[in-house]
Amino acid sequence: MQWFTKWRRERILKRSALDEALWRSVVACYPFTRALSVQERARLRECVIFFLHEKSIVGAGGLELRDEMRIDIATQACMLILGLDLDYYRGWVEVIVYPDEFVAEYEYMDEDGIVHQVEEPMTGESWLAGPVILSWADTQMRGDEHGYNVVIHEFAHKLDMLNGDANGYPPLHAGMDRGEWSRVFGSAYEHFRNRVDHDEAVGIDPYAAENPAEFFAVTSEAFFEMPKVVLAEYPGVYRQLAAFYRQDPVARLAAAGQPVELAAIR
Ligand SMILES: [Zn+2]
Repeated sequence: MQWFTKWRRERILKRSALDEALWRSVVACYPFTRALSVQERARLRECVIFFLHEKSIVGAGGLELRDEMRIDIATQACMLILGLDLDYYRGWVEVIVYPDEFVAEYEYMDEDGIVHQVEEPMTGESWLAGPVILSWADTQMRGDEHGYNVVIHEFAHKLDMLNGDANGYPPLHAGMDRGEWSRVFGSAYEHFRNRVDHDEAVGIDPYAAENPAEFFAVTSEAFFEMPKVVLAEYPGVYRQLAAFYRQDPVARLAAAGQPVELAAIR
């Protein structure tokens, strides 16, 4: 059964209002939203309305969330599913936003079987079938040289988790080749990790070398934030991401007449 029927969507659209001035100011913030065509922008706007209707975006740690903050987060989250469907964010409802980095507590067992309690500062976190947690301060860090974008990062993990734990292997569309995805991402990940291990200069955030799940999330950030770098460094990964997200950000920037180099190489 479809979670989000056409009838329900039309009813939500009719009854919901989005502050036009806030919407326009958020769209003006990001190179990836500025480059959207008129049709894409309209689709994104609808997606943001549905997202705000279906998800609860709440402040924590004393953060009071304003409408423009909710629209900002929803807009970035919806960029990932612009060519897909809001149904890709099924199975959970909450986005929790802290003012700044928050502390995650977890346990792990070392090789000797000793359990360690760890408290680690986090900028974002995604739970399987649970909430997305974000640091507001980090959502506002734009223009980082590695294309840092914590919202895109965490929501990419959400898409990855549609078929279980995050492992860099989201559910692929009909017509996409699973073997090809694994080959392309597997070899790119090994290659990237090797470059990071040897302290080579990399255009993509070195955090991608952490594990295949992070490689998918970080290359997704870069795919939207600085697509030309991904296309230049890992063209196979770019093509797989373009097929998965059903978007071609390099072509879009060129069509929008935006200086692709500027948007891409920082
Ligand atoms: Zn991550």
